[in-house]
Amino acid sequence: MSSRTETLEFQAETRQLLQLMVHSIYSHKDVFLRELVSNASDALDKLRLESMVDKDLEVDTSDLHIEIATDEQARTLTVRDNGIGMSREDVVSLIGTIARSGTAELLRKLKESKEAGNQDLIGQFGVGFYATFMVAEKVILLTRRAGQTEGTRWESTGEGTYVIETVDDAPQGTSVTVHLKPVDSEDNLHDYTDHGRIREIVKRYSDFIAWPIRLVTADAEPVTLNSMKALWARPRDEVAEEEYRDFYRHVSHDWADPLETIHMRGEGVFEYEALLFIPSHAPFDLYRADGRRGVQLYVKRVFVMDDCAALIPDYLRFVKGVVDAHDLSLNISREILQQDRQIQIVRRRLVRKVLTTLKEMRTADAERYRTFWSQFGRVLKEGLLEDPDNTEAILELLCVESTHDATEPTTLHDYVARMKEGQTEIYYVTGEHRATLENSPHLEAFRAKGYEVLLLTDPVDEVWVDRVGQFDGRSLRSVAKGQVDLDTEQERKEAETEREQQAKEYADLLAFLRDTLSDTVKEVRLSARLTTSPACLVGDAHDLTPTLEKMYRAMGQEVPVVRRILELNPTHPLVTGLRAAHQRDAADPGLAETAELLYGMALLAEGGDLTDPARFARVLADRLTRTL
Ligand code: ADP
Repeated sequence: MSSRTETLEFQAETRQLLQLMVHSIYSHKDVFLRELVSNASDALDKLRLESMVDKDLEVDTSDLHIEIATDEQARTLTVRDNGIGMSREDVVSLIGTIARSGTAELLRKLKESKEAGNQDLIGQFGVGFYATFMVAEKVILLTRRAGQTEGTRWESTGEGTYVIETVDDAPQGTSVTVHLKPVDSEDNLHDYTDHGRIREIVKRYSDFIAWPIRLVTADAEPVTLNSMKALWARPRDEVAEEEYRDFYRHVSHDWADPLETIHMRGEGVFEYEALLFIPSHAPFDLYRADGRRGVQLYVKRVFVMDDCAALIPDYLRFVKGVVDAHDLSLNISREILQQDRQIQIVRRRLVRKVLTTLKEMRTADAERYRTFWSQFGRVLKEGLLEDPDNTEAILELLCVESTHDATEPTTLHDYVARMKEGQTEIYYVTGEHRATLENSPHLEAFRAKGYEVLLLTDPVDEVWVDRVGQFDGRSLRSVAKGQVDLDTEQERKEAETEREQQAKEYADLLAFLRDTLSDTVKEVRLSARLTTSPACLVGDAHDLTPTLEKMYRAMGQEVPVVRRILELNPTHPLVTGLRAAHQRDAADPGLAETAELLYGMALLAEGGDLTDPARFARVLADRLTRTL
């Protein structure tokens, strides 16, 4: 053996993943070949780009290709490329460890789903190179980085350790030789030395790969198996659904089919082609800061980068695919991309296209749209904060829960269509749970009037309703903020005398309560929103809602305690009784206690948290005892 032979251990997580691969019952074992070809194709892309950008790199790029060779006697299959290759350090860090953040998540899900008998996750997470261990007894990788003289040989059975050594005679690029497990049709282990089989798999998964994939046969010239047509450059009506699907798998590492395919072309000053997909399920890293975002960027068929976030705004980060922009420089950096005018224009067009596609999906196929919304609705709503230019379009896509229907969310359009005679605003309430919101005292007057109220329970809802302010010319109005007056002119006139009367009668009690509860509320007033509850708490238009206050605290932010407004129902017996008691003896010590209970009840009724629940319970228990 040549120099520096080492036996190294796989890092713990890699070991676990390999264990799962080696003993995999995953039924689509054929995908290992797709993964190897995909890696080889990436390596060729990288070499081409590097040779174009770095003129000093001395490599022959005249015949970049992928080769597949088999040996029936030795039962091996080799996938070889003359691409960028790997240095010894690369091999240790890229193959010996899994740097990818999703691995722990994948392992957890794989373990869970094994019990559930579903192994489709392997494709979904794109385990790449490791997939080989589903079909291999042993894997040998030989590689040399372009521009370096020494090569690296790596060998492993996937059980705990691998052997790595530096070699002198490695051709540039990478070859992966798989020593195959015995054929076992029950275990979906096909004969991967069979050329018919290989042709079929390559055609099936890798036809669009832009480099020739050649099958090397002993007795004849190598044959190219794939058509190499860049899918996005072909006219739409010439691409089969099947081809779109396989391409989607290639770019997304997702095993499931996409929910929607968008194939578009931009002409004029900036030419580009885009092939975008909306997946049918959310990836595990959708909400993680280090999650994969963006689409692949090509410049005139030359791959430039993965995960190009500059092309897709954050709130559409679930979109996968390829953008081929014609007039960009190849060695453009990620930072410069963000500023590039052409990219900005392309991005604006992509956004508009994705949004209109979603709108069409919603009308044409409600069921499919429901799937979309359940997976990505929350992310899409972030757009209401990020993308003021498309606020209207995003609002049109919303699915919101409402008091109208307990099971089916509504669109804002449908809400507006159902608005009652005389109703001018769109009403909503925010909070954590639908059930609490539905029964909150804030809704009483609206229910009495037959007005529909939107029930917004997503944390992000708290923020966008404030920011957006209106839909279709009608303002969005919280039922828990400000004064509510749903009366018509006529009703108002009729009630005027009664109100003046009440204001007079309650003046003393309100003053007393303001004073007693001044630590917790900033104002006490009579309410027009209550029909059955004695009291409720409301905010001023620009006050933080309790949920937001809680959210900010949970994020470790300092926010001042918001004192809200206590509103009383002037016709409730508890309130009229309290007034009578106050008139009888304003110095009665029990009054302050009742005030405290009244405030506590209002807070509990809206689903809020008491600051001192034990004290509330004690005061209440005392009270109850006295009534027995
Ligand atoms: P992925 O391809 O999803 O990144 P893999 O486990 O398949 O994950 O590969 C890990 C890394 O190893 C790749 O990102 C690449 O840097 C490197 N690699 C794998 N195969 C090759 C190859 N044929 N040529 C060069 N580098 C490769």
